[in-house]
Amino acid sequence: SQNTAHFERPEIRLPSGRILLNGELVQPRGAERTIDAIDPATGATIMSFAACSAEDVDRAVNAAHACFESRAWQAMRPLDRGRLLENLALLVERHREELAALESLDSGKLLAVTNAIDLQFTIDGLRYFAGWASKINGEYVTHNPLVPEDAVYRAYTQRRPIGVVGGITPWNFPIGQAIQKIAPAIAFGCTVVLKPSEESSLTTLRLGELIVEAGFPAGAVNIVTGYGAEAGAALVDHPRVRKIAFTGSTATGQRILAASAATMKRVTLELGGKSPTIILADADLDRAIPGAAAAIFSNSGQICTAGSRLLVEDAVYDRVMDGVAGIAEALRLGSPFDPATQIGPLISPRQRDRVSQIVAAGVQEGAEVVAGGRVEETAGWFYRPTLLANVDPDMVVMREEIFGPVVCATRITDRSQIVPMANDTPFGLAASVWTRNLDHAHLLAERIDAGTVWLNTHNVLDLAMPFGGGKLSGLGREFGSEAVHAFTEPKAVCMRL
Ligand code: NAD
Repeated sequence: SQNTAHFERPEIRLPSGRILLNGELVQPRGAERTIDAIDPATGATIMSFAACSAEDVDRAVNAAHACFESRAWQAMRPLDRGRLLENLALLVERHREELAALESLDSGKLLAVTNAIDLQFTIDGLRYFAGWASKINGEYVTHNPLVPEDAVYRAYTQRRPIGVVGGITPWNFPIGQAIQKIAPAIAFGCTVVLKPSEESSLTTLRLGELIVEAGFPAGAVNIVTGYGAEAGAALVDHPRVRKIAFTGSTATGQRILAASAATMKRVTLELGGKSPTIILADADLDRAIPGAAAAIFSNSGQICTAGSRLLVEDAVYDRVMDGVAGIAEALRLGSPFDPATQIGPLISPRQRDRVSQIVAAGVQEGAEVVAGGRVEETAGWFYRPTLLANVDPDMVVMREEIFGPVVCATRITDRSQIVPMANDTPFGLAASVWTRNLDHAHLLAERIDAGTVWLNTHNVLDLAMPFGGGKLSGLGREFGSEAVHAFTEPKAVCMRL
């Protein structure tokens, strides 16, 4: 139930609303319309900001391009590019509480989480990639002449920055995603134009103010706000943007991939998922049950890797269902600023209605509601944590990403069915396996089609691990050493001595 206890909401500093263009915070010229930032926990309007036009995006791309081509940027020592990211990390750290509160206000994420997870990830991400800037090496290649002759050759490779990167981010992890695009792009020598989600742009706007303070060269990082179909599409279509680093829905990712063909842009696509949480009979249920609940209910299910399909071995099925249902019923919905709150709102009425409709469709098809299954009638856009049973693999609830606090449970009656059941989805982002049998765990990890497989845990992000998915979950990887491939192109240099 909605929590009504008293708590103090921290002082919140709003951004100016100005976009970051060529090193300056400006009111966009082309934007005639504005977008309201809405507090999803109350429905109240926080402030408004610009819906940038294609013309604004063009200016930002030209600034990023001019910076990229400048002698100053090309000659900057990699260590000094890293230093820019370190400066920004210090500033984010100094403004951590304020940024965490702004993120909670704008996105409805719990303050405890935005501070401990989102801001930590942001600061760590800046430092992690700052270290990469000075460690980008090519290779010496042993040459194989086609025609043996007297000539002697030497060959080596370099990794060159791709050029201007267009970063496009979703609303569920706003400041963290902004840094996930900006930090590697700068570390690997690219320049950036970033467009945050129109549903939660405020921390990215505030980040723009800190980027100015951190002393980035004009044009190295530009931030434009606006709608996907307008500002986002303009970035994707722009011939001077050489790469799109996108995180968001599969439908938008498919549109971006198709549109990128015209200019042969490089793309990395971090898209949706329908990840299984697999609990075997020999699992430590004291960890697996709360683990399975957290896998789906954290951030109200608005996590791309959420464990939204719960596959449980017959012998422990009833205990797991009772345990997860008990947790779901007991979770406290409420203000993201109340320390007692465990579940915040969904981002928008549209998202809440989508969750509600897809659950209703599942029930229509025969799914049984074990817990939740309804909207929380209160201000803001809340949906009760929901557990569905008797879910058939062909039902829409089982196949589509819901992006809400809804988990669909299925019984595993035959061990040979674990891998086919886990892989029976158009997505391939993540999975978790809960078992005490390590041999079995590692063998399953090999055979499950997913970018990440967690063993006895779920939703643990690690900047040093490649992150991304296969099938409809995307293309490419952005974290860890794989990020080098995402933001640079190899160049072969061959010389006749
Ligand atoms: P979305 O696709 O609706 O929007 C994402 C971004 O794309 C926004 O900035 C939006 O303005 C922009 N956009 C929309 N249409 C566009 C177009 N035609 N051209 C260019 N840009 C366009 O996604 P969302 O609803 O904001 O986010 C939720 C989705 O993101 C879920 O599917 C979730 O799984 C996914 N996600 C994936 C990851 C991951 O790393 N795999 C992480 C977080 C979220």
